[in-house]
Amino acid sequence: MADCLFCRIAAGEIPCKKVYEDEQMLAFHDIHPQRPVHFLIIPKPHLSSLYDAGSEHEALLGRMMAKAGELARAEGLDDGFRTIVNTGRIGGQEVYHLHLHILGGPEPVGPMTQKR
Ligand code: 5GP
Ligand code: ZN
Repeated sequence: MADCLFCRIAAGEIPCKKVYEDEQMLAFHDIHPQRPVHFLIIPKPHLSSLYDAGSEHEALLGRMMAKAGELARAEGLDDGFRTIVNTGRIGGQEVYHLHLHILGGPEPVGPMTQKR
């Protein structure tokens, strides 16, 4: 996906502040952090969103989830963190390459969703 921002970051064409990388995934700090620590975990192969995920992605998504705690620990989030995956227009997704947000810091992240 030549025109996908996160594919270009995964390919090293656009720089990022890297947290972790292996052959299947990349983690990097969000460019507009919403908490003192805010990084993203993405799969290297292009996958638009959770809506588009299927059984063929089980291993990859499992690896990403299983890595989150270790990466959060390395970023000092020993007291917990919030994990968010925005999907589609209703979910507020802006970049259509699936990513896990990991958010944390000294203060609690707050309510899970905005109250209406
Ligand atoms: P979404 O709303 O799709 O769940 O989240 C997209 C996230 O990507 C946003 O938090 C946004 O700040 C982040 N982002 C957008 N463009 C870039 C970029 O070029 N580099 C980095 N590191 N993060 C980005
Ligand atoms: Zn992509």
